[in-house]
Amino acid sequence: MAVSSLSAAGVRWDLSDLAADAEQARREWEELLARSRAFAERNRGGVGTRGPDALRELLEELDELLQDASRVHFYATAREHTEATDPETNDLATLARDRVADLESLLLFVELEWLALGDAEADALLEAPELEPFAHRLRVAREEKPYVLPEGEEQALNARRPAISAWESLHGRELATLTVDFDGGSGPEPHTIDRLLSYVYDPDRETRIAALEALYGGLDTVADVQAACYDALVGDRLSIDRLRGIQDPMWPTNQRNELDGDVVEAMMRSIEEHHPLGRRWFVRKAQVLGLDKLALADQYAPVGADRRVEWTEALELVDGTLRDFEPRLADILRECLDRGHVDAEPRTGKAGGAYCNSVSKTVLPYVLLNFTDQIRDVVTLAHEFGHVTHNVLALERQAYRAYHTGLAVAEVPSTFAQLLAVERLIAQEEDPSTRAMLLADRAESAMASIFRQTVLARFEQRAYALRGEGKGLTRERLSDVWCEENERYYGDSLELPEGYRLGWSYIPHFIHVRFYTYAYAFAHLVAFSLLARYREDPERFVPAYVEFLSAGGSRSPQALLEPTGVDLRDPATWDAAFGEFERCVAEAEAGVDGL
Ligand SMILES: [Zn+2]
Repeated sequence: MAVSSLSAAGVRWDLSDLAADAEQARREWEELLARSRAFAERNRGGVGTRGPDALRELLEELDELLQDASRVHFYATAREHTEATDPETNDLATLARDRVADLESLLLFVELEWLALGDAEADALLEAPELEPFAHRLRVAREEKPYVLPEGEEQALNARRPAISAWESLHGRELATLTVDFDGGSGPEPHTIDRLLSYVYDPDRETRIAALEALYGGLDTVADVQAACYDALVGDRLSIDRLRGIQDPMWPTNQRNELDGDVVEAMMRSIEEHHPLGRRWFVRKAQVLGLDKLALADQYAPVGADRRVEWTEALELVDGTLRDFEPRLADILRECLDRGHVDAEPRTGKAGGAYCNSVSKTVLPYVLLNFTDQIRDVVTLAHEFGHVTHNVLALERQAYRAYHTGLAVAEVPSTFAQLLAVERLIAQEEDPSTRAMLLADRAESAMASIFRQTVLARFEQRAYALRGEGKGLTRERLSDVWCEENERYYGDSLELPEGYRLGWSYIPHFIHVRFYTYAYAFAHLVAFSLLARYREDPERFVPAYVEFLSAGGSRSPQALLEPTGVDLRDPATWDAAFGEFERCVAEAEAGVDGL
């Protein structure tokens, strides 16, 4: 089989840092439940009422509990993601899901009691030096105070969770099981959505267009169900918001990102003002491809020459990128590899995509990816190690509760690492045609995260507004809004096919976390800003950046980024970011000039 000849063959996880076997994991779940019960008995009614020392002790004990739970939980998830067909794995995953829910119910009182404290009492605790490591997270948690319901009502809402997740599962299952017969060159075979989408990078135009047509044909059969799932979830979220008194449907996401609604709106507006930059590239790309106008299927069509990158070359490249920046970061990468915390080999029964998971202060993060010798995979490897190095440094310095950041800041180090690795790839590339490909790919991936993810967020805003006015989110209504928002971006620089009307129906973010997608735009722009700072003064920048990584989620995004010289309130920050973005597009244009 082709897969076994890939260069990452055999690069698999060693899960022994998580648990010895399923038997041990089961035993640990029972112990964890007993510990949680004892913890609740000792502490119920006493959160924040026994002085700062006692609260610190309580939070430290809770951190220990949660780290053990997250380690055993990830043991089950990791097995599910690498040996999905093993019956023992499936039993363990079911057990883990149930136990996590039990644990959450047992421990819910800590957050609720913390919110129930009066402001004066809470403020006095937040000033206490003993609580310094926890203070920022505790302060952020209290922002939810006005919207939290009494414990019984919160428990009742929690109890509905399985019914709500049923809509999410239905949406996911419809997509995961959807296959369409398509001939990608080796005869007609059933294709999943992901496989059809991978043809957008195919050099042959007919294949690209036909693959998208096949995709739309498939989506047509599920779009009614997908719309019904989305309608149910948005309707539910809005009615819970009303119960809580939350006015703005973006508030829960903004709050978790610790970003003000107006900072997010200002960023999105400024992104939209730069749409002509994207259109300029589409026009240029059409010329390169010898077309009057680009079709959607040509958006990611390769220009220049592709090349393969073997696993060892990819590792050396990412290692070298990190080492030149700050040797400690490269040492972390090597340690993860040596301890078997990287699973890179694509194989059946393994989850697609890529992620990094960190379970505790004492276990190194685990990385999953599917390395297929493509240049794109090198970028993914750098991205995931951006997450790994951030998590390791933050976990070293911060309390477990304070290490993680909101989504938006979490994607900054990964995007920054990815940008550095791509710069290195470009600098080392001797073949002008491959260089042109790399430059185009860098510009296009910036467009995909900055422009396209903002289009997605605008689509969601309109969907929530319509549902809020009592209009059902039918397939037709969603398709109309989808087209309008996409046209605002593409203008007449690119032709959208009729079938693209259903483009909203396969985006999982809409289903799982509302307004998730603007985090990608934010992270890419901040990473561009950081890159500009780095180039200006590397000596000063590197230690400040390492400080940013080590601070984890112990401060607000504004305060976290301050040492690096990036000020989120200053319009110059976004100017610097768009300056980098424009440079990427200009270099992509110069790259294709030579072809
Ligand atoms: Zn990421």
